[in-house]
Amino acid sequence: MSNLKEQDPVLYRAIADERQRELSQLELIASENFASDAVLEAAGSVMTNKYAEGLPRKRYYGGCEFVDVAEEQAIARVKLLFGAEHANVQPHSGASANLGAYFAVSKPGDTLLGMSLAHGGHLTHGHPVSLTGQIWRSVQYGVRLEDGLVDYDQVERLAKEHRPRILVAGASAYPRIFDFERFAAIAREVGAALVVDMAHIAGLVAAGLHPSPVPHAELTTSTTHKTLRGPRGGFVLSTAALAEKLDKSVFPGLQGGPLMHVIAAKAVCFGEALTDGFRSYQRRVVENARTLAESLIGHGFDLVTGGTDNHLMLVDLRARGMTGKTAEDALHRARITVNKNAVPNDPQKPGVTSGIRIGTPALTTRGFGRDEMLRIGEWIARVLAKPDDAAVARAVEREVTELAAGFPLFAREPAVRA
Ligand SMILES: *Cc1c(COP(=O)(O)O)cnc(C)c1O
Repeated sequence: MSNLKEQDPVLYRAIADERQRELSQLELIASENFASDAVLEAAGSVMTNKYAEGLPRKRYYGGCEFVDVAEEQAIARVKLLFGAEHANVQPHSGASANLGAYFAVSKPGDTLLGMSLAHGGHLTHGHPVSLTGQIWRSVQYGVRLEDGLVDYDQVERLAKEHRPRILVAGASAYPRIFDFERFAAIAREVGAALVVDMAHIAGLVAAGLHPSPVPHAELTTSTTHKTLRGPRGGFVLSTAALAEKLDKSVFPGLQGGPLMHVIAAKAVCFGEALTDGFRSYQRRVVENARTLAESLIGHGFDLVTGGTDNHLMLVDLRARGMTGKTAEDALHRARITVNKNAVPNDPQKPGVTSGIRIGTPALTTRGFGRDEMLRIGEWIARVLAKPDDAAVARAVEREVTELAAGFPLFAREPAVRA
């Protein structure tokens, strides 16, 4: 019997509806995933009740002996997973992780060189609407318009001109491999600290499918809920030399009490990520992305950089005279969930855009493979050939619903079998 159902039917209904939505549509948002039942259980546990300001065994509250187990496990496991000298697992989110990392090595008013949102970076890499673009003097680099790849020569030029205190590498919408050695060389040359934000690719890095930033960066930040498939949250890895500065920056600098239930769930997630099953899951994420990219190219779509090396792709709709918003809405009617996304040099406003971003982590968790990816590529082509045609959307929706019903989620083993 559900207590929530009895006590608060409105919220019970909303959660039940969200569960049904997750089950009945095809989740292709590149930043989303389905956490395992074990992760959900830890995140929904009594550890939410506990105040634990400070660090394990050095708390400002009594009664922390069991939450200390959770945080010590999370720290030990994430250090092992990424070969890091030090870890702080308390940031509430990826955005907090970035602020914590920046404050560990800089002061307000220092210069920060990051990748612009319009070219695939993140708001927290110095965009003017983010505090990171207001607290720091922000300078932004981007990708080369001719091939969509990070313009390392521009990064170097801007670094030499502006002498930033912080160089940020990492992105939310970049389908290729980052050259972290090159970033580190540029940072060294100008005396900047290199902060790598691996929020999107952390799962691939953990599985050895993307080069690790950890040997090259002073600080590496991440979310836990994207390719890593954990609870919603963040963490920061650092060199031993920066350990104390980082910990103080996160608490008391930025946050109060850590979310101990989420830290327990992060520990479960890192435990899962250390298994062979997780590594083979990540391999399938990348294979599925390549299959879907090839399918879309076969159906005549333009992909930024011409394809993908990781878990996501960016479809450039300009040649079709279609906006990202139109495409997102049309696919939504067929229960295919993607997000509109700017393409480099996008002529449209951020609320409209000329592209869509598509990622395979969530559907791969669900057990989707090559055949399903080919079907999805065909459905996307059918819907976007006639984005205003309700009959096409309805026909595709029927097929989507039938496929989704064959791939259950929740209350079962996560699809991490080797
Ligand atoms: C998602 C993301 C973040 C922010 O994570 P939140 O948990 O939403 O705050 C930061 N950086 C990058 C590159 C991201 O993709």
